Amino acid sequence: MSLPVTPLATHAARMERAQRLLAANLIDWLIVGPGSDLQYFTGLRGHDSERLSVLLLPAAGKPAWVVPVLEAPLLDGIADLLAIHRWGEADDPAARCASVMGGGAPVVAVTESLRAAFVLRLQGALPQASWVEATPVLRPLRMVKDAHEIAVLEEAARLTDEAWVRFLDERIIGLTERQAMRRLVEVTTDMGLGPGFCHAGSGPFSASPHHGGGDRVIQPGEAVVFDWGGTLEGYNSDVTRTVWTGGEPDPEFARIYQIVLEANEATLAAARPGVACQDLDTTARDLITAAGYGEYFIHRVGHGLGLSLHEEPYLVQGNSLPLEAGMVFSDEPGIYLPGRFGVRVEDTVVCTPDGARKINHAPRDLRVMQ
Ligand code: ZN
Ligand code: ZN
Repeated sequence: MSLPVTPLATHAARMERAQRLLAANLIDWLIVGPGSDLQYFTGLRGHDSERLSVLLLPAAGKPAWVVPVLEAPLLDGIADLLAIHRWGEADDPAARCASVMGGGAPVVAVTESLRAAFVLRLQGALPQASWVEATPVLRPLRMVKDAHEIAVLEEAARLTDEAWVRFLDERIIGLTERQAMRRLVEVTTDMGLGPGFCHAGSGPFSASPHHGGGDRVIQPGEAVVFDWGGTLEGYNSDVTRTVWTGGEPDPEFARIYQIVLEANEATLAAARPGVACQDLDTTARDLITAAGYGEYFIHRVGHGLGLSLHEEPYLVQGNSLPLEAGMVFSDEPGIYLPGRFGVRVEDTVVCTPDGARKINHAPRDLRVMQ
């Protein structure tokens, strides 16, 4: 399946929507650094380096990109969308931004990924400006995906699931975590996905949710948690599967696996427009607590997923934001017994007008790998 790339008109429309939001929030300029916000608006992630490269979006008027001259050719495809201001190696790019913005005392919003050093230099160049975080303005845009974004996320999920089915046939006992991870990444990129991420924890390390994968050799008779994903058109997949190695699983592990699976399914069943994000966390947490493992569920139940691996909405206590159709998020309860083992099952979910549906279909029943 091949998907058409996001057309320029879509990017122009996204910038116009942001401009309306800026005006409504009395913000004069939005400064977007390299990363997922920039990709959302322009289709390009930009080059994140010590050289300042930013999109300057005014509340009204033509957007501009202040770019190092050596990176300007990268913008050729989007030259119709914005004014391109090139700066040379000996120029002061913060001063250039200030001049494009017309000086004065504007209200300026900056995105999360804009480096702190750049913010400080821009503050020096615009001493009268006031500064706010852009996330509250961008959140409603990025959080609700359009049909094209959902189609790309679904395809990324499908390819990741297929990679898992292939990986399940491989032998992991005797490999180090790092070797097993490398193999899973290889199988995933062979499916056509771009580089993503991979965590693997075996034995006691499976109880450490973000264990990066090291030199520990995977043994028979233990749990292994794989959490990984790839990218398609910049959109992420994010899946976790937990397996047992060797033979018959430890009875407590098997029991906990079922509890986690039920919590994952209950979370999916509870998701629909209008439900508060924190209520999904509560659904999973109540079920795990009732089973006696509440204190071992040590993270939120999920996070939004799109051009960033972790983005709004966060399914966490304290977030009363209601779900909306088009939101895409992970459903990833887990139970971690320190020094023994951990279990997590993670799928990606799309909120639909009348409920929610999973877009990952990799096998979820308890599997034993050799
Ligand atoms: Zn994950
Ligand atoms: Zn995740």
